[in-house]
Amino acid sequence: MPETIYTIPINEAFEAAAESEQCVCPFCTLERDLEKNEIDLILGASMMEPDIRIKTNKSGFCPKHFEKMMAYGKRLPLALMLESHLAELYGKITKKDKIESYDKPIKRLMELNSSCYICERIAYNYKRIMSNAVYMWSSDEEFRKKLLSQKTFCVKHFIDFVNTGSRELGKKEFPAFYQDVGEVFAPYFKELCSDVSWFCKKFDYRYEDEPWYNAKDSVERAVAFLSSSQKSDKA
Ligand SMILES: [Zn+2]
Ligand SMILES: [Zn+2]
Repeated sequence: MPETIYTIPINEAFEAAAESEQCVCPFCTLERDLEKNEIDLILGASMMEPDIRIKTNKSGFCPKHFEKMMAYGKRLPLALMLESHLAELYGKITKKDKIESYDKPIKRLMELNSSCYICERIAYNYKRIMSNAVYMWSSDEEFRKKLLSQKTFCVKHFIDFVNTGSRELGKKEFPAFYQDVGEVFAPYFKELCSDVSWFCKKFDYRYEDEPWYNAKDSVERAVAFLSSSQKSDKA
């Protein structure tokens, strides 16, 4: 049985994106919510859970997520987690308070620097969301309509959604899926191209008195489209 645990949040994100006045990629909202949930959990409910502590001790955090946890404003849970994380790491690179010979500490510190508990959790759940959404497309007629009513997918989420579809749908089903997703992606892409062009033209004195049309925020929208940072109304 394919994944269905994310059916409700996926439906909600697609409905909100379709109704939004802005061009919002529903997967950007879902991915941002995943990150927020993880930070809420580790600095809240699951902060003292031993099995989570074992994982955070082992993986540590990337600079971006350290920054987000600092901005969260709860110092004590963060300090408690850092206490055991630092102690475990220190124990791994020293023997009787002396640093171990060259290769071991460097290898362990390098491993630590390339992992992040929050990134790992997001990646795991993100894959499940993509799979779930592909399954919904193939099994739920209403969801197909919802998908076609989207205004946009950003570049990264278009790639991942299509790749998941190509992996998980049969050869017969995939072309129709690609067609639907492409019908959302391409028109907004085209609109951005002309909006950014018009934005550039407006700096030419000959176009000075022309209206802006939809070009005023086109640079921000193009960057959000290319860097998957499209914000929903509530974000
Ligand atoms: Zn996106
Ligand atoms: Zn991270």
